[in-house]
Amino acid sequence: MGDKLSAQWARVRGRLRAEYGETAYRSWLRPLTLQGMEGGRVRISVSTRFMQDWVESQYGDRLASLWAVEAAEVHSVDIYVEGGTETASTLERPPTAKEARSTGDEIGAPLDPRFTFENFVVGKPNELAFAAARRVAEADTVPYNPLFLYGGVGLGKTHLMHAIAWHLRRTRPERHAIYLSAEKFMYHFIRALRYKDTVAFKEQFRSVDVLMIDDVQFIAGKENTQEEFFHTFNALVDQNHQVVISADKSPNDLEGMEERMKSRLGWGLVADIHPTTYELRLGILQTKADQHEAEVPPKVMEFLAHKITSNVRELEGALNRIVAYASLVGRAVTLENTQEVLHDILRANDRRVTIEEIQKRVSEHFNIRLSEMYSSRRARAVARPRQVAMYLSKQLTSRSLPEIGRKFGGRDHTTVMHAVRKVDELRATDNGFNEDIELLRRMLES
Ligand code: ADP
Ligand code: MG
Repeated sequence: MGDKLSAQWARVRGRLRAEYGETAYRSWLRPLTLQGMEGGRVRISVSTRFMQDWVESQYGDRLASLWAVEAAEVHSVDIYVEGGTETASTLERPPTAKEARSTGDEIGAPLDPRFTFENFVVGKPNELAFAAARRVAEADTVPYNPLFLYGGVGLGKTHLMHAIAWHLRRTRPERHAIYLSAEKFMYHFIRALRYKDTVAFKEQFRSVDVLMIDDVQFIAGKENTQEEFFHTFNALVDQNHQVVISADKSPNDLEGMEERMKSRLGWGLVADIHPTTYELRLGILQTKADQHEAEVPPKVMEFLAHKITSNVRELEGALNRIVAYASLVGRAVTLENTQEVLHDILRANDRRVTIEEIQKRVSEHFNIRLSEMYSSRRARAVARPRQVAMYLSKQLTSRSLPEIGRKFGGRDHTTVMHAVRKVDELRATDNGFNEDIELLRRMLES
């Protein structure tokens, strides 16, 4: 199978994993085997009939649209049972090279060509991590060891690590840089144990100039791997070779990680990537739309930057989806079709602001007790903030009017409706009030 196809498949799987979560991914998506692509048909095999039905019904559409994003020529995805009677004979099985022993460079994972410094959009939340990564990539000596990058899912950790590797490859090909996930590190280690080949395993890593291990939280709780990692890590640091680590938490907060490991991981520079801001999200969308050479109206980008606040991967996924949709059906991207095409993603993001949060923020803002949100008092000083909170609950969550009413001391849905109307009215007539609400909304959404 071609490198390009493998890379595309890896990206499709990456997206599925991000969208459906780890559990679904492991049960249903990881077991899929890409068999090839021919004449615009992607062929994927599974091991049982049940798997086939399930994957087709649950993930089929998404698989097809993700493939369409990756390769415009793809028009269908066939999922079939390996060894099944209908189609298996026409297939070319991929070589079983997976079992071959990997040596030298192969131990590292392939790099995503899009993950370069040039393609990374810098903003307040990631400027420290970006600057530190650049420094590591450009410095003649080891500036800090290790560089420890941490932050939530989809905020650019892997991107920055690949960027370091790309930069080194271009500017200093003689330096041996390796990138791999902690999971893969563990896999290689366990295999070395099985083949009684741990000496070669150690040599491989210890002769590396720059070692980058992604998502080390994965080896927390895995004692043997941690031990080996610790030794490898120490050997490299002692020889003044650069180590770059990423995790979803700071060294101190890594549960199941030995104390000595935690402390050692924090010796160099610890740089965190904060959740994105609206400005950064907008910047990223603009950059990505330019890369797609897609016409996306500013209104749509603002809408997406407002609504999809969880992480960059999801934001990118949303953009890809509407761009793919527009090109498939031959229509321009509009706010209307964006909302339609993305309704599932938008709903999932909506749910992230809760009514409880809204009540808390609003009562703080108006300086009243939180309990007034549920109380029956009607004095203007408490009734108005309560209406504002109901209004924002309607705007920012996907809760229905009765559901909202219940959360406000068991009020009727008509009360909520009235509140929504009242606040709309006031916003239209009272500028100060309008700005207040806008501010609250932004605070809640950031
Ligand atoms: P993490 O490893 O932190 O989970 P990734 O590095 O895989 O996140 O990033 C997820 C996706 O978002 C990737 O496609 C990456 O290119 C993109 N991305 C994240 N941050 C940025 C950024 N600041 N600029 C451009 N793309 C970004
Ligand atoms: Mg990552």
